[in-house]
Amino acid sequence: MIKIKKIDHVAICVSDIDEALPRYRDLFGLEDGSREVVASQKTDACLLPVGDSNIELIAPKGNAGLEKFLEKRGPGIHHIALEVEGIEDALAALKVLGVKLIDEVPRMGARGHKVAFVHPHATGGVLIELVEPE
Ligand code: ZN
Repeated sequence: MIKIKKIDHVAICVSDIDEALPRYRDLFGLEDGSREVVASQKTDACLLPVGDSNIELIAPKGNAGLEKFLEKRGPGIHHIALEVEGIEDALAALKVLGVKLIDEVPRMGARGHKVAFVHPHATGGVLIELVEPE
């Protein structure tokens, strides 16, 4: 049984974080929290805290998947991240169910968290990221 704790973040793909940030600040009063280039994922990422959760702005820094996303669909919601307890166990449980995974083993994401993506084919078209804080 997978234990989901909360929505960690909703990720919005943009072409330029510096261009997108003022919009979220001016329209919704959201302040940027942590900003980092995530080398392992070739992305620029900025978290805007919203209560216990976050909006995450992500822009490609050589990430071909994000570049393709922007080219095909333009900026928009890219994925939803669920915080899980025990990401390895969660992945194993999904694998038993025959769920198509993008990451069969967790990798290092933003904030040093362990992350793994579930293929949108398995979820009805939504890219889901599992996150476990270190
Ligand atoms: Zn994410």
